[in-house]
Amino acid sequence: MSSPQSDRHVVVVGASLAGTRAVEGLRALGHAGHITLIGAEAELPYDRPPLSKDLLKSDWSDDAVAGFRLTSAEALTAAGVELKLGVAATGLDTVARVVRLADGTSVGYDVLIIATGAIARPSPWRPESGVFQLRTLADSRAIAEQLRTGAPLVVVGGGFIGTEIAAAAVGFGCSVTVVDPVAEPMARIVGPDVAGSLVGLHERHGAQARFGVGVTDIRGKLGALEVLLDDGSTIDTAAAVVGIGSIPCIDWLEGSGLTLGNGVLTDGMLRAVGADDVFAIGDVARWPHPGRGVEVRAEHWTNASDQARYVATALTGGVSEPYGSTDYVWSDQYDWKVHTIGWRDPNGSSALVRDLARDGKTAVVHSNGAGEPTGVVTVNWVRGLNLARRLLAAGDPAERIVAELEQLA
Ligand SMILES: Cc1cc2nc3c(=O)[nH]c(=O)nc-3n(C[C@H](O)[C@H](O)[C@H](O)COP(=O)(O)OP(=O)(O)OC[C@H]3O[C@@H](n4cnc5c(N)ncnc54)[C@H](O)[C@@H]3O)c2cc1C
Repeated sequence: MSSPQSDRHVVVVGASLAGTRAVEGLRALGHAGHITLIGAEAELPYDRPPLSKDLLKSDWSDDAVAGFRLTSAEALTAAGVELKLGVAATGLDTVARVVRLADGTSVGYDVLIIATGAIARPSPWRPESGVFQLRTLADSRAIAEQLRTGAPLVVVGGGFIGTEIAAAAVGFGCSVTVVDPVAEPMARIVGPDVAGSLVGLHERHGAQARFGVGVTDIRGKLGALEVLLDDGSTIDTAAAVVGIGSIPCIDWLEGSGLTLGNGVLTDGMLRAVGADDVFAIGDVARWPHPGRGVEVRAEHWTNASDQARYVATALTGGVSEPYGSTDYVWSDQYDWKVHTIGWRDPNGSSALVRDLARDGKTAVVHSNGAGEPTGVVTVNWVRGLNLARRLLAAGDPAERIVAELEQLA
């Protein structure tokens, strides 16, 4: 259904998952006005999860890379989308409704969708060479080349992306050490039971886990690096990948009047606070999460995609409810598939269903302090995930979710 204002010019800044899905959604839902998609990268939009998974292990042939593009120039042209790649937005005037670009030009808008995502948090340690970070296709290609040397690697950061890189490195025969100041780095998301199993999984595959120990410096150069730890020890390595989180791309919005902080603050309908007809979606957006009762900036594929669809629907006259997140995340760790829906309340409790070592699969049902279910983590159990997702959405109590999972074959 198209709205009475479907002739408005929509400008989308950020040509990745959220931006691409937003323009596709607008056209699919009948938006007839002009659409401009602006991206800082010279690349056609591509998917990021494969950068630490399949692509890292691929042969980097043109076909392998093409398989992870989110769209094609032809498809965007056919959809009537004006594409401006390789040019970053450098400023925003919300009164004149103009986006300024790095090439000195500017683009006027009726509606602006901010989808500039995030970058890898820069490494505080900068030796002459040998430190890699992962956010872009070029980063993934550079890391893949390094892994193929089979030389020792230190991964700083034991989150999902760091451990996926570690798993790929082990596959190339690298001697791998993962360092993280937190004792069980993934516990915040998956809870201590699954986090402990994941540490064991990496060790069984030959990666060393140095958890609960922080890095104080990285010195030397590619091929001869020293990673200094806060327990006084040093790891000699050829290269290091630093994966210590990400920061939202909001520099270009300074002085625009939008409410910036950890991302672009929006209301519950993803409208940027501080300007009319401006939305923020994907990794750059911070919005009031209805279930959690706090402002959240998610860095997850499904959220970016869902928010794009939500705003496209809103702009074509189709939503009245605030955005409700599915909070779905997945990770591949060696041959294990980890899935999470919802969230884990650190003040709540968790119930474990099935024994990973014995059954090869498990689920953890998280509840908040009041005993209400907030999320579920599964390992190698897609049927369990689907069942839990349905029961969570139906508002079933935690005991029922646990009981139904226990009965599932
Ligand atoms: C290695 C890796 C693995 C991942 N694996 C998973 C996974 O397994 N599961 C999962 O749920 N999620 C995963 N994610 C997260 C997921 O990819 C992100 O949530 C998703 O890419 C967010 O999309 P986005 O469009 O909001 O932002 P981004 O993908 O960050 O894209 C933002 C785009 O905006 C551009 N941009 C930035 N500033 C400007 C500017 N000023 N002007 C113009 N353009 C600009 C950037 O160049 C970029 O192309 C992974 C991410 C990475 C990096």
